[in-house]
Amino acid sequence: MNSLIEPSFRDSIEMLYNQAIKDMDVAPGLAEKIKVCNSTYTVRFGVKLRGQIHTFTGYRSVHSEHREPVKGGIRYALSVNQDEVEALAALMTYKCALTEVPFGGSKGGLCIDPRAWEEHELEQITRRFAYELIKRDLINPSQNVPAPDMGTGEREMGWIADQYNRMNTTDINAAACVTGKPVELGGIAGRVEATGRGVQYALQEFFRHPEDVKTAGLDGTLEGKRIIVQGLGNVGYHAAKFLSEEDGAKIVAVVERDGTVFNADGVNIEELHLHIQQHGGVLTYPHGQVLLGAEARMGMEADCDILIPAAIEGSINLGNADRIKAKVIIEAANGPITAGADAILRDKGIFIIPDLYANAGGVTVSYFEWVKNLSHIRFGRMQRRAEEGRHQLLVDELNRVLGDAGLSTGLSENFTSKYLKGACEIDLVRSGLDDTMREAYQIMRERWRGGHAQDLRMAGYQIAIQRVIATYQNKGL
Ligand code: GLU
Repeated sequence: MNSLIEPSFRDSIEMLYNQAIKDMDVAPGLAEKIKVCNSTYTVRFGVKLRGQIHTFTGYRSVHSEHREPVKGGIRYALSVNQDEVEALAALMTYKCALTEVPFGGSKGGLCIDPRAWEEHELEQITRRFAYELIKRDLINPSQNVPAPDMGTGEREMGWIADQYNRMNTTDINAAACVTGKPVELGGIAGRVEATGRGVQYALQEFFRHPEDVKTAGLDGTLEGKRIIVQGLGNVGYHAAKFLSEEDGAKIVAVVERDGTVFNADGVNIEELHLHIQQHGGVLTYPHGQVLLGAEARMGMEADCDILIPAAIEGSINLGNADRIKAKVIIEAANGPITAGADAILRDKGIFIIPDLYANAGGVTVSYFEWVKNLSHIRFGRMQRRAEEGRHQLLVDELNRVLGDAGLSTGLSENFTSKYLKGACEIDLVRSGLDDTMREAYQIMRERWRGGHAQDLRMAGYQIAIQRVIATYQNKGL
């Protein structure tokens, strides 16, 4: 296969969209309207750094405004370009519609290598980029709400929120202009882990359906399953950590930028993550076999049960798809499988849990954060102690009745302490996220198993497109 004939990322997403609507009854004009990106704003701005003006190029693309605000992260990478931002914005539309997150789709990007700049320089650049977007309402609590993506995190979102505040001093809802903020600036507990946590919940839900597990050529539960993770950034790290520490899965390989770590007994993710932070890479990691260069790139092709691509788009493409041995691929990144590779993997019988579902945990918790900001109160603050009080009443009464019946041991301590604990913000966030991931998987699989779609990805796209259409129709368009 020749990897040169691969379509661009945006073309790849449009090909998937076209494939999805083929089996749907969509008016031709409407199909085109939903597919195209509404607008992409390109900004070039100068920042004086290190004694000279440096010019940066950034984008904010709005794919669909069927619901507002529109939502999507801001990426910092040298590879950022208009095609990529538009593809990612389209994915945001479908992701939000599928998971019933009431937003349209958007995405932003800045063409920059964030590691090439000091923190104070990045702050200046981010504030300037934010200024350009804010003055055009491309950052605004009711119109367009960014979030972190590759190369950005809480720190950048904090700067953006503060910049918006300075420019809108009387906006009482200013904190809702961006999500993924530090908790001290109105962020929400569990947002940093959210996308990785969502990947965990998605896999847990997959294993609740033995028929699907069998279709994938697997059996049992997550316990002992051999997993390869590509990319130990925020998403890959949290997914790998939770799956190994909480579900008993074994991370047999971690594919990183500079090399691949193999360990058949399971890589200790916390240890490796710390090593990467301290040494800048995996090369000197002592616990496992570390492969470099071409061999390392083949890390994704090793034998395993589940492959989690959690880095950039297009990492599974026409050049390597036929060598992938995983039984299940769960797309933690956006667009890691190209449209061409998707067809090859399907022919090979590999079970794909698609990106528009699998990585929706981030935007789902962003939605909770936005709601928190608009309501100006932490989730659980009003009801937690009341809930504990009511539970205490029941425990006391049960213990009294058990005592009267001569069962003096009463309720077990383990039960009592778990039952008495009222839900705090992190519990509620995880509960809402788990519910979202379960529901979305179930409606996708129903459509697929019902014979209306050839796989989960097509089912996901079709459900999302149907919901966008329903919104337009109900508006009277
Ligand atoms: N950048 C993340 C994504 O691709 C999160 C977007 C958001 O929270 O708005 O889904």
